[in-house]
Amino acid sequence: MSKITLASITSRRLLHGPSVSAVLTAIAAIAAMTATAAITACAPKPAQPFSIDGYRCSDCNVLLISIDTLRANHLGVYGSVRATSPNIDRFAQDAVTFDNSIDTGGGTLPVHMSMFTGLPYRTHDVNSANPAPLAPERVTLTNQLKAAGYDTRAFTGGGFVVASYGFGRGFNSYFAGANFETTMPMVDQYLDHRPPGRFFIFLHTYDVHSGTHRLPYEAPGGYNEMFTGGYHGTFDGCQAGRCGSDLLASWGAELVGAKIKPNDLMSPEDLEYMVGLYDGAIAYVDHELGGLFSHLKRLGLYDKTLIIVTGDHGEEFFDHGLVLHHQNFDETARTPLLIHLPRGVAAGRRTKAMVSTVDLMPTILDVVGIQPNREVMGHSLMPVIAGGPGRDGVYVASAVEKWRTQDWSLFFLGDAAVWLFDLKNDPGEKKNVLHQHEDITGDLLRHALAERWHDVQMGTKLANAKASHTAPTTPAEEARLRALGYASH
Ligand SMILES: [Zn+2]
Repeated sequence: MSKITLASITSRRLLHGPSVSAVLTAIAAIAAMTATAAITACAPKPAQPFSIDGYRCSDCNVLLISIDTLRANHLGVYGSVRATSPNIDRFAQDAVTFDNSIDTGGGTLPVHMSMFTGLPYRTHDVNSANPAPLAPERVTLTNQLKAAGYDTRAFTGGGFVVASYGFGRGFNSYFAGANFETTMPMVDQYLDHRPPGRFFIFLHTYDVHSGTHRLPYEAPGGYNEMFTGGYHGTFDGCQAGRCGSDLLASWGAELVGAKIKPNDLMSPEDLEYMVGLYDGAIAYVDHELGGLFSHLKRLGLYDKTLIIVTGDHGEEFFDHGLVLHHQNFDETARTPLLIHLPRGVAAGRRTKAMVSTVDLMPTILDVVGIQPNREVMGHSLMPVIAGGPGRDGVYVASAVEKWRTQDWSLFFLGDAAVWLFDLKNDPGEKKNVLHQHEDITGDLLRHALAERWHDVQMGTKLANAKASHTAPTTPAEEARLRALGYASH
């Protein structure tokens, strides 16, 4: 929601980024190669044989929780040294923790659309740069759950996560436009008075997103003070007549223009204070989620409900020169992902496998025994939970694109420049090692561009195949789906 553009970031990075001339020729050649490359070369690895008995639960509920702008490593379960998330950390003991859940890129609107369609950014083609509703032919997660008889309810913070973009499809009710202070009592009331049968609740909030309050991150109930007690500076959220999100957005514009440096804007103490405010907001959300989990337990629903806690992207605090969430470094692209399976199946497991936002929809449908519509490009995570390998890598779209594997982080800016980061030795993505690993760069780039090309081609195919989802699957396709664990009971 900032006024700066990724194109402007790209321009600056091109001017000030590391030299990559040795790779540019290779990029052009590789890009040409991808035009004829087999699509399957970059596809996620097929499901491996696995056995998790009893994970499928056709009479279970679904609760999908998306905490907008929740940076993974600010939760205890992902290594925060602050006590930001005691309830989420406890929840993780009942869930499967994913260490390498990577978003699909582009921010709130396209990532949530990937969550609800199982399609990547360049396939569903819904993004904030050119905002248009999801094509009417597409089938959402909610469409499928509703068709299976679920009572479907959404409680969202609004913004980009509103019904008009297509998120409302299939919901019996879709409330948008408020945070947990308003929506959590609504959820509680719904749970207490819900109709008979199964429910699907989508709960989304901007409580940890910078807002229009005076302070950039502000939480109710004294949480602003939770991690900021030692601060004696003068930062109060406003400068030169701008406050909160407006202030941070104005910083971004000046930083991208190289007019100022982070130290011109904030002292280290001021920055620590701002991060403390953000962490306080996380603690508030954590407290509210703790109450929700307790409520589900009191009602006897906790073990009968597939509960997913995730986010759409993280947040930057000058980690790479900017604030908010405009760059695809891991502080933004890596999202928390905790999946609580019904009846405690796989509770406490943890995996480093690469997974993508597009995998959420097929995972949810797999667990409740519904076959995903044939357009879905994500894969159920149940084989990963069973110890399978996950994806080779995840493509993150946007102007500054990224190919993220377990060990490497490759950035490619169109076909003009590349950075490579060795995550084993440099998890903060600080030192470009492109020239030390040009062979690896070429391999990664080939995969990245093939994946990107595949996504674009699938988007074109879907756009040209009106209402293709209504066509029944063939016996061969059904057999393939059954082999992958998608078959419904
Ligand atoms: Zn967002």
